[in-house]
Amino acid sequence: MGLVSVVSRLEQLCHDKGLKMTEQRRVIARVLSEADDHPDVEQLYRRATRIDPGISLATVYRTVRLFEEASILERHDFGDGRARYEEAPEDHHDHLIDIQSGTVVEFTNPEIEKLQHRVAEQLGYKLVGHRLELYAVPLHGKGKKK
Ligand SMILES: [Zn+2]
Repeated sequence: MGLVSVVSRLEQLCHDKGLKMTEQRRVIARVLSEADDHPDVEQLYRRATRIDPGISLATVYRTVRLFEEASILERHDFGDGRARYEEAPEDHHDHLIDIQSGTVVEFTNPEIEKLQHRVAEQLGYKLVGHRLELYAVPLHGKGKKK
């Protein structure tokens, strides 16, 4: 596989956008690429320092802002006031947040997608994007053994 297997997808995006990549930025890009749980800055910092203990919290903040401005990272606010990040997805998805455990579930629903286009059209607009967050608690008994 050569290069592709060592360069994270996010790092490749940084390269495509012409961002100067320092070793620390590369580490943060990798941590973000490997995350599938929408981490906040504190979590990113903890993971990044496991790879490079020299990385500071300020560097993580700066790098995340840089990536976000370059649109290679998406920022979410799932209702607890903490910014969470994920690599800008190749395919669109929405989020359901379990407000008891904080678990974030990704989903897509073709009906919802279509409905949103229709609503925008009815209001005289062409839809160009949306954000949808569902806040939920587990259904009674879900996950419990009988
Ligand atoms: Zn997501």
